[in-house]
Amino acid sequence: MIYLDNAATTKPFKSVIQLANEYYSDEFYNPSALYLPAINVSAKLNEAREFINKAMGGGGRVIFTSCATESNTWVYSSGIKNKKGNIVVSMGEHASGYENAMTLHGKYDVRFVKLLPNGNIDQTDLLNKIDENTTFVSVIHCSNETGAVNDLKSISQKIKSIAPNALFHSDGVQALGKMPVNCRNSGVDLYSISAHKIGGLKGIGGLWIKDGIKLNPLLSGGGQEFGARSGTENVAGIMCFCQALKEFTATHPQQIKQMRDHAISELSSIDNVVINECEEQSPYILSFSAIGTKAEIIQRMLCERGVLVGLGSACASKHKKNRVLSAMGRSMSVIESNLRISFAPENLNDDLKSAFAEIRNCINKFRGK
Ligand code: PLP
Repeated sequence: MIYLDNAATTKPFKSVIQLANEYYSDEFYNPSALYLPAINVSAKLNEAREFINKAMGGGGRVIFTSCATESNTWVYSSGIKNKKGNIVVSMGEHASGYENAMTLHGKYDVRFVKLLPNGNIDQTDLLNKIDENTTFVSVIHCSNETGAVNDLKSISQKIKSIAPNALFHSDGVQALGKMPVNCRNSGVDLYSISAHKIGGLKGIGGLWIKDGIKLNPLLSGGGQEFGARSGTENVAGIMCFCQALKEFTATHPQQIKQMRDHAISELSSIDNVVINECEEQSPYILSFSAIGTKAEIIQRMLCERGVLVGLGSACASKHKKNRVLSAMGRSMSVIESNLRISFAPENLNDDLKSAFAEIRNCINKFRGK
């Protein structure tokens, strides 16, 4: 199989599997226990926590969760302070943010910020939606669907100029390890992350919380994670998250950009293919639409030929419109045929050549050529 759906999940690095084995077989101790082997595990865990914090610019603390969906759910429930306040959320959020906002919508004042055709949030609309009663704002750092990268610093300055006490959250799942992340310099208060998008294990994520900010505990109990998220720590997951971040970050981004450029030139040579290019674009994600085709059918045809790609959105079905592309003003024909290719360091040039030959064949076959 040629795997080109790395924004959905990545294959764990070999070093990660080895480390997981070590922590499941030898270093299995409960980090809360008071005997020496457990104290050593606890120390390693906190080194990993600090490494990840520093990789994100420092000035905060990572609280480990089971996944970014958990982190996002936590921040939304903390964002509402009172019935008089409002929260402001971009239309470009991942479903794990957007659906939380929709749950609050109706009960509270939830305001959605438009996207521009270039994939970024509309900062003029953001300014219109925020006021002094805004308690929480969420803007995704890098879109999982299009790879559009938002300028967090400029957004944070706008938020804080109107609502200095509002919490600013960003979903950094598709950004961490793949582009510079500096929460402190960007003025972010809360930042969600996940290990399985960068060669780590599934079942481990985190929420970076700026120093001085206190959220209501997500889970109460034994007081782990500084009392913010009780439950015995997923030690192997955390250690492997740190290892994956080290290894993923070491990849030369230029290599990924070359893969993407190659992909664009291949796709552009097929008739009637639209590349959903954004102004600030992550090299890891490529969104395209072969006009007149149906994304699910092309995806299935490709799978039968050994090529795995993603749907631009899992809900690009006839009843549910793709929210992000719709918010960018894309037509139904672009949305219905939208596929996502997402790269990882281990994708090989030869694999890419065969994959694009198959993509061309499938599109032509669908079109009866
Ligand atoms: N946020 C973004 C931008 C994502 O791409 C994803 C996963 O696709 C998530 C959140 C959810 O991550 P997790 O699988 O860790 O819950």
